Amino acid sequence: MSSNSKTSVSKAQNEQHKKILSQLLKLECNRRCCDCSARGPTWASVNLGLFVCLNCSGIHRSLGTHLSKVRSTTLDTWLPEQVEFISKLGNVRANNYWEARLPRGFRRPSEGDMSAMKDFIIEKYQNQVHFSWLLACTAMPIIIQCHSFRADGQCISFDDKPCLLPGDL
Ligand SMILES: [Zn+2]
Repeated sequence: MSSNSKTSVSKAQNEQHKKILSQLLKLECNRRCCDCSARGPTWASVNLGLFVCLNCSGIHRSLGTHLSKVRSTTLDTWLPEQVEFISKLGNVRANNYWEARLPRGFRRPSEGDMSAMKDFIIEKYQNQVHFSWLLACTAMPIIIQCHSFRADGQCISFDDKPCLLPGDL
């Protein structure tokens, strides 16, 4: 379908997207890698709506595109809906969701420790051990519009389907 294809992104639109992304990266909430906290991330996961550093982008890519679709903020072509999504989300909001139940005083792996970082990223996005439906819904009202919580804590939208979460996009 052409409307969902990169070929539908014009050169001017692409330039505009790059500008928006570079502005987003200047915001306080996006100045550090969403996973390792390294300064100045230039890569992103477009379906998770967050910015990561080069090292963490490699780990995201290794998880597979069903979990994370990695794009460069400077080299790749983005679709308008991907730019819109990351504009609405970003690193702090995303972590309110993915790290909702991170233990107090948790020490993230240091920047250079790729093996520990990979374990952390798998725990965070694949096993979703730090995430909470309840906190996610409170943290991300733009994306999630829920009206009730089931006994297992999962929230239900008005059509009685599980609420849309970043990973579903
Ligand atoms: Zn990182």
